[in-house]
Amino acid sequence: MSKHVTHWIDGKPFAGTAERRGDIYNPATGEVAGTVDFAGAAEVDAAVAAARAAFPAWRDTSVTKRAAVLFRFRELLHANREKLARTISAEHGKVVSDAFGEVSRGLEVVEFACGIPHLLKGGYSENVSTKVDAYSILQPLGVVAGITPFNFPAMVPMWMFPIAIACGNTFVLKPSEKDPSAAVLLAELWAEAGLPEGVFNVVHGDKAAVDGILEHDDVKAVSFVGSTPIARYIYETAARHGKRVQALGGAKNHMVVLPDADLDLAADAAVSAGFGSAGERCMAISAVVAVESIADDLVERVKDRVARLRVGPGDDERSEMGPLVTGPHRDKVASYLESGVREGATLAIDGRVHPVLSGENGGFWLGPSLLDHVTPEMGCYRDEIFGPVLSLLRAPTYDAALDLVNANPYGNGTAIFTNDGGAARRFQNEVEVGMVGINVPIPVPMAFYSFGGWKSSLFGDSHAHGTEGVHFYTRTKAVTARWLDPSHGGVNLGFPTNG
Ligand code: NAD
Repeated sequence: MSKHVTHWIDGKPFAGTAERRGDIYNPATGEVAGTVDFAGAAEVDAAVAAARAAFPAWRDTSVTKRAAVLFRFRELLHANREKLARTISAEHGKVVSDAFGEVSRGLEVVEFACGIPHLLKGGYSENVSTKVDAYSILQPLGVVAGITPFNFPAMVPMWMFPIAIACGNTFVLKPSEKDPSAAVLLAELWAEAGLPEGVFNVVHGDKAAVDGILEHDDVKAVSFVGSTPIARYIYETAARHGKRVQALGGAKNHMVVLPDADLDLAADAAVSAGFGSAGERCMAISAVVAVESIADDLVERVKDRVARLRVGPGDDERSEMGPLVTGPHRDKVASYLESGVREGATLAIDGRVHPVLSGENGGFWLGPSLLDHVTPEMGCYRDEIFGPVLSLLRAPTYDAALDLVNANPYGNGTAIFTNDGGAARRFQNEVEVGMVGINVPIPVPMAFYSFGGWKSSLFGDSHAHGTEGVHFYTRTKAVTARWLDPSHGGVNLGFPTNG
């Protein structure tokens, strides 16, 4: 049965007729599973208008009542995690257990946002001048928007909206058009949790919907997660339209393996972090930098593990890795195997010949691949491939490995594998990357820390979730108050100083 996904505006599915639609695929079979409506300016206007109308009452709802809605949403999310995971898997292709993982990491942010009464506490100083008190309060911005990528259709939106809504804002989400159903399911759960109509809205679509948000006068802030060229565009366009903006971009995450590392642990980590979710994770390891003396040994251990990986449909319990999200993306990823070899790399593992458990006809399949002897000038290293292709680079020393990581324009995540605490500490200090793992290949910060990279991996100055999320979705007001007592009096034209 073919599904039809439409926008969610003012607490219900949008009744209008779409001028444009997109296809939703089942990546395991390559078949079209349904269609999604694409928003134009009119639908974006309707969503923003609903959010704007809902803002005053939501802002003035007590912080404890807002938290109570979040607690109910948390319970419903937990109860519906399997449905959500299966919905994600069906459209994205990732295995259901991995989709469960993304739901859990989103749930963690909701749990963090349940603590909003504590997070919104301002400061108070008594007697900053004689009988004058000063305090700061954190207020919501108004209508804020989130524009999110295909690879985490539930988790990435949940980096944003639980905190934005808890702070008293109203929200318009524009999820990826490739896997739009999870966003609608989340909207339904909000409604069931008792969130007032118009506080959370979803518009689907492509550039037209995004531009409608970026140019809309009533949208006060934009959070974006996606590829670097689009992140840069969002940052520049939203800023030009006077909005607060955080735009998280693409990545090339390096895993440095020093000679004293536990090589079995390092090989397990490289395979897990390189091929989990078919490499379609912004924190996936895509470049392993092995210090030369252990490189051949590491390659052999990676090969052993990859040979045993089970690739198959996301809903087949035996599968460890699913298909890629679309046919064109699979073809683009596979093209790097050819260009890499042309430019001098060795194809140590060819994912094009990896067996697929079932459903191979027409599905967007590409097994795990390893390009060895990769060098920094090759296209397969310079570009973010965003698929199950690991590149192995060899460095003569720790310093050469560090220089390589720091010369890369991206700075999202990185990891070092070593048993030398001093080397790990140096790396943590010297590496120019926003999120660092020490013997941990995918160092995604917990919800109460903040997520974000450096350099071309983030445009803006606040990271997602944690206290930086609260900061992004609020503005601070500083109040100076004097309650007159009978002794006060007198004009004073001098600039106010403490006295
Ligand atoms: P994408 O940049 O193609 O799309 C992201 C969003 O932007 C989608 O909602 C899409 O509809 C919209 N969009 C696409 N083209 C547009 C255009 N020309 N103008 C305006 N809007 C446009 O990214 P994707 O392919 O969906 O996701 C994969 C990318 O996201 C990878 O580069 C990955 O590294 C990155 N990512 C980064 C993080 C992070 O935290 N830094 C997290 C997840 C994914």
